[in-house]
Amino acid sequence: MFNLHGKVAIVTGGNGGIGLGMGLGLAGAGATVVVAGRNREKSLAAVAQLGRGALAVETDVTDEKSVERLFRRVADDCGRVDILVNNAGINIRKPPQELSLSEWRQVLDTNLTSAYLCAHAAYPAMKAAGAGKIINIGSMLSIFGASFAPAYAASKGGIVQFTKACASAWAGDNIQVNAVLPGWIDTELTRNARKEVPGLHDSVLRRTPAARWGVPDDFRGIAVFLAGPASAFITGAAITVDGGYSIQG
Ligand code: NDP
Repeated sequence: MFNLHGKVAIVTGGNGGIGLGMGLGLAGAGATVVVAGRNREKSLAAVAQLGRGALAVETDVTDEKSVERLFRRVADDCGRVDILVNNAGINIRKPPQELSLSEWRQVLDTNLTSAYLCAHAAYPAMKAAGAGKIINIGSMLSIFGASFAPAYAASKGGIVQFTKACASAWAGDNIQVNAVLPGWIDTELTRNARKEVPGLHDSVLRRTPAARWGVPDDFRGIAVFLAGPASAFITGAAITVDGGYSIQG
């Protein structure tokens, strides 16, 4: 049910935070993990942690040519791609009236268009293999609004609908496509938010029934579950990993 030996997984943004947490889960279950990020040093450090056959391919997920190079390299070096985790993401914290068009595009390109580009590139190999697993990373802002994150919320809402569309289109090819919606997780992304937003740390603790911030290790299990045979009849779902944050009224 949870054995990924012989499988190859691409994790975008797999060189830190939630992506590395998921990568460590996948590697622990036997998969070969390909880290696709921009920062070479971070990616090499992640590969050292991921061990056995892990590979770093310098990739900018907003760039179609760069994504094409990633998938060509994985085909050449690994001969297959069984699992794709669309995890790379950024936020630009501004209210809508202050966000420029180029900032809007930067967030949408990184968080949403990248998932389309990578899923589009992964599909032919997955279809030919007769199986595939795609995991898209959403957010609490796939569900809620937030005054400071208009492009981020639009991209993460879009991720859930894109997940459902691909799940419907590709179920007949035995490709399951699901979304994971993290709550508040302690990573580089939220460390900046905690510095900028007074009281954020405590308000997250107050609202989260589990009474703690999440950590990247919290994503090991969901990655293995959604990447392996255990989730064969689950597709189009959006699963929260949030310590109960989203069930609070
Ligand atoms: P991090 O900032 O730690 O990780 C983001 C990753 O995305 C980095 O590894 C970065 O790699 C990569 N990345 C950013 N832009 C690009 C790009 N253009 N091309 C390739 N890789 C890119 O943040 P998190 O781990 O927190 O975030 C991971 C995902 O989880 C994101 O989609 C985020 O929106 C989502 N999320 C996070 C939450 C949290 O509380 N932390 C809550 C809800 C969702 P590099 O620097 O090498 O480019």
